[in-house]
Amino acid sequence: MLVISQENVVLQMSPNNVPVAHASPGDSIVFQTLDCFSNEIAREDQLFSSVGWDRINPATGPLYVDGARVGDILRVEVLDIKLDTQGVMTTAPNHGALGHIIDKEKTKIVPIVDGKAKFNDRIELDVNPMIGVIGTAPEKDEIPTGTPGKHGGNMDCKRIGKGSVVYLSVNVPGALLAMGDVHALMADGEIIVCGIEIAAEITVKVDVLTGLSLPLPMIVQGEHVITIASGETLDEAAIIATEMMLDFVRQALGLDIHEAGMLLSVVGDLRICQIVDPLMTVRMEFPLWILDKYGCRMT
Ligand code: CA
Ligand code: CA
Repeated sequence: MLVISQENVVLQMSPNNVPVAHASPGDSIVFQTLDCFSNEIAREDQLFSSVGWDRINPATGPLYVDGARVGDILRVEVLDIKLDTQGVMTTAPNHGALGHIIDKEKTKIVPIVDGKAKFNDRIELDVNPMIGVIGTAPEKDEIPTGTPGKHGGNMDCKRIGKGSVVYLSVNVPGALLAMGDVHALMADGEIIVCGIEIAAEITVKVDVLTGLSLPLPMIVQGEHVITIASGETLDEAAIIATEMMLDFVRQALGLDIHEAGMLLSVVGDLRICQIVDPLMTVRMEFPLWILDKYGCRMT
């Protein structure tokens, strides 16, 4: 299987990035990813500020997917996420939702043993590995890997884990897929600006969908299809994610705006992905079984 190693990282999602590997639709690829601190924090006496901003949020890649053309959709199925043996968490003044209260930096190393994260002497947590950063190159801009957007990027959505399918826009030939910033565990909100940050090996299968219109980025996970949007405020992101799902439901099920809106109001759960990145990210989750009722299936 094709393996893209940890040395091949980018700090921007950019049409100017040089592909480090090529794959064909249907191929499975392993992305070996650094943690969001470029693996530079291994002990609790090492602080966030010791890592330069030019080393934060590296994404492994980019991968050129042969045959992916502008206007296509890149379908990325997450087959597996293997975690390293320890994760890292940090706090710092002026970072995250509590940055105005936190007065000094602190680092916590979280050992990962047998699928459990040892948070402290009393608390062991089941891991739920997820990909914080996954995206394609925008058409023209260079977007830092720490920023989410229509191209994907730093969405910090805990629904992007093993078994999930992520649909991304192809804005440049080959799509230029990159990913990183795996968390062993993260709660909606990511309020302190990190989950349990950890190096990982992500195995994905890529496919190219043509002639299909979806509001992107989109995710299928478990029992739900999910729209995901980012904005300057949570309100803005919430409205965009809702409109994306409204468009999708109207198109897929053939409902008028009233029927679709009422349906979303009773089964479309709006949830916060994160409130700490340069833009806020919100998702809407809609039950797949309702698509089934209309004979509609996600490819
Ligand atoms: Ca992140
Ligand atoms: Ca992170």
